[in-house]
Amino acid sequence: MRLILATSNADKIREIKEIYSPLCKELDLEILAWDRLITPFDIIENGESFKENALIKSRAVFNALNGILSPNDIVLSDDSGICVDALCGKPGIHSARYSGGNAVDNLNLLCAEVAKLPSKTSKAHYCACIGISSVQGDFSAHGFMYGNVISVPRGNNGFGYDPMFIPQGFNKTLAELSSNEKNAISHRTQALTHASYILRVLSRLFSA
Ligand code: IMP
Repeated sequence: MRLILATSNADKIREIKEIYSPLCKELDLEILAWDRLITPFDIIENGESFKENALIKSRAVFNALNGILSPNDIVLSDDSGICVDALCGKPGIHSARYSGGNAVDNLNLLCAEVAKLPSKTSKAHYCACIGISSVQGDFSAHGFMYGNVISVPRGNNGFGYDPMFIPQGFNKTLAELSSNEKNAISHRTQALTHASYILRVLSRLFSA
């Protein structure tokens, strides 16, 4: 069974491969990014939730791969972002394009917004929604990670907003934790764990 990732984000691809390494052995899964099969095209993410955008991406790639996929192939997408309580949930589904610039611009803008708060910190959470498209239909699974955001970034690991996010129960930012430590608690791990039950069922259906 092949799991085709509907993302070109190298950090997401790396984390998904790390998190699913045991599942790959269990289900004899091969994980590859969609750009190994077709030239990536722009997907308009005009959904109003992480779930809508995740399914827009997995379905768009599944449809585009029509004729290239075998019946056992599955397309998996990840739509994710950070939601800051004191900013009414911003940037949320707009996390990737918050500043209009790159990931560093996004981080700097959110740090600047948090610095304007009287407390210079806020409760926040990451959300990830995994979209799955297959011949058996479309499915989704969510995961969350709760913590606080700070206005002065710390650490060099991870990606995106990780240098400003301190997970609940820790005093280090995600960017100060190792990838194993992040993967043990992350929104992406939670969502992928829930999604793994869907993949196990699909795998059984395919081999029946
Ligand atoms: P998407 O590609 O539209 O799903 O946007 C995802 C964006 O959310 C990324 O570009 C990051 O800005 C942010 N994000 C999602 N997950 C993470 C994470 O694990 N660490 C840091 N930033 C993340």
